[in-house]
Amino acid sequence: MKKPFQLFICLLLVSGMLALSGCVDDTPATSDTPDTSNINQSELQNDILYQVSTIDALLEGLYDGQLSMGELKEQGDLGLGTFDALDGEMIVIDGEVYQMKTDGYAYSVDDSVTTPFAAVTYFETDEAIVLNGPSNSSEVALLVGESLPSKNLMYAIRIDGTFEHMKVRSVPAQEEPYPLLVDVIAVEQAVFELENVEGSIVGFWLPYYVEGINVPGYHFHFIDTDREKGGHVLDYTILNGTVYIDQTAGFELSLPESAEFMDVDLLRDKGDELHTVEKDDE
Ligand SMILES: [Zn+2]
Repeated sequence: MKKPFQLFICLLLVSGMLALSGCVDDTPATSDTPDTSNINQSELQNDILYQVSTIDALLEGLYDGQLSMGELKEQGDLGLGTFDALDGEMIVIDGEVYQMKTDGYAYSVDDSVTTPFAAVTYFETDEAIVLNGPSNSSEVALLVGESLPSKNLMYAIRIDGTFEHMKVRSVPAQEEPYPLLVDVIAVEQAVFELENVEGSIVGFWLPYYVEGINVPGYHFHFIDTDREKGGHVLDYTILNGTVYIDQTAGFELSLPESAEFMDVDLLRDKGDELHTVEKDDE
């Protein structure tokens, strides 16, 4: 089978130190890896946000899967993304991958299924915030934003709780020639409103300098506790719960070397399209 990626761009942002590493392969760091710094290697290994392709490539309609779930799960146990042909919303939680389709239901995913865009990390809580009493998504966003130590690092976030209201969406599989993501969202996204549901929000807060690569600010997916329903989060109200934050100082970006990726125009400013695709404007 063709190796999906031959090029790895590996950028490690480590505690204010900018280190451009050599290329990293899929092999986990072992104890005989030379420790050339004062950074704990196992900590560093877990402290990496690993990403497949870029959000702008997805916005341009590059929906062909590039990396299998089996391979993705080696890079982290929490995260989000989508599937080959844009077939639903992906959530990775507790090391399991779920595919949330346009029927509103979540499905287990075979390790051979591939993704055109995903981001995962090994989640380790650095900070927890208990939410007492109802809060809407803007209030939680403000509270979490104020508690982030710096807006220049990356954070994985998990919110476990009881949600009075949860508004999610999913997208259906596309056929080639693939339309732009903004057009899929405009015509085909399926929106679901869940009431009084227990579950978990999973996602990231990323700095504004990731524009074009990932989603600046918050990007969340949701799945209920029974792992039956969920999707890309558009809005919610939480009754009570806990926000867990994992500060992530490493970033590894795996770019496809497909002809489509090599030829796609990534110069076009897609900021407005990204806002339309990710946020709830109703
Ligand atoms: Zn999403």
